[in-house]
Amino acid sequence: MYSWEQNIRKVIPYTPGEQPKEKDIIKLNTNENPYPPAPGVAKAIKEFDTNSLRKYPDPLIGKLVHSIAVNYGMRDEEVFVGVGSDDVLATAFLTCFNSDKPIIFPDITYSFYDVWAKLFNIPFETKALDENFKIVTEDYLCDNGGVIFPNPNAPTGELMELDEVERIIAANRDVVVIVDEAYIDFGGTSAKSLIKKYDNLLVVQTYSKSRSLAGMRIGFMLGNEKLVKYINDVKYSYNSYTLSNLTIEAGVASMEDTAYFEECVKKVIDVREWTKVELKKRGFIFGDSKSNFIFAKSDRMSGNKLFEELKKRKIYVRHFSKPERIDDYLRISIGTAEEMKIFMEKLDEILGL
Ligand SMILES: *Cc1c(COP(=O)(O)O)cnc(C)c1O
Repeated sequence: MYSWEQNIRKVIPYTPGEQPKEKDIIKLNTNENPYPPAPGVAKAIKEFDTNSLRKYPDPLIGKLVHSIAVNYGMRDEEVFVGVGSDDVLATAFLTCFNSDKPIIFPDITYSFYDVWAKLFNIPFETKALDENFKIVTEDYLCDNGGVIFPNPNAPTGELMELDEVERIIAANRDVVVIVDEAYIDFGGTSAKSLIKKYDNLLVVQTYSKSRSLAGMRIGFMLGNEKLVKYINDVKYSYNSYTLSNLTIEAGVASMEDTAYFEECVKKVIDVREWTKVELKKRGFIFGDSKSNFIFAKSDRMSGNKLFEELKKRKIYVRHFSKPERIDDYLRISIGTAEEMKIFMEKLDEILGL
């Protein structure tokens, strides 16, 4: 027996939602957008100069950084772009969370946070959500090594109002506070307006949900110039060429089409509100989600059973068996109006309604 295995770094990885191979399924399990990307994206890809792939892409991702900066009223120096917001968040963890004190985040939240914390040897502590799955602001006004939370939170969909977000940032001026706004476009107010006031704030967003480009892998961060510089230094110490030429072109085309973006977001919100009404009729219990999913439990069937019954009928939703407190909940992504209608029909069949 050789002993190389003793010196291997062993980790328990994040488990992403299933990406089933079958075509005829209704996929409501990974919060993807049911509508196609902006028409300009298809055009940019069709007209893409393949010969340009000979060369390395721009390590600064300058064209895309600029287009995001213009759209969000920031300067280029205040924008960092990565391979999805997972890459942006991982780089931010590596850069910003180097204290001996624990970083803090909610106990029920995006399950990648504790994976990165363990991977990078960052001590962490979780703060319990209240009985309505809301973040308790007071819990974040303590001594710590950094703060991260999604707003709206995932998988609950609960939104924190901007003045509460600001209370957390203001009370934590000696550490970096990251607000993960993966779902902010579906009904919340971004904390980006606070960046001018707080140099310890990072706002992270993604093209994966509201811009229908999960497969393209684009995420970005807005923050103080100095902080963005530190994060870029870590990126260049790790992997300089993160986005391909093609991805950059697609990202710019998407960012430029504000009208299409707003239309898709509105459709998702309208269908979400319809879905809430229909779920209520069927005895489901859930909060007032401001995201593109609803975190709901049935008053008559366990989460696991309902998950399996839906799967048998080719409808995929997300079920988390841990922690126990959310074991009966399903996270249902908002599909098209047609998909949600079929979803309701299948529910009626399963629940005998
Ligand atoms: C989806 C999601 C992300 C990651 O999205 P990317 O596809 O990597 O951009 C980050 N945070 C939360 C809370 C998410 O739900």
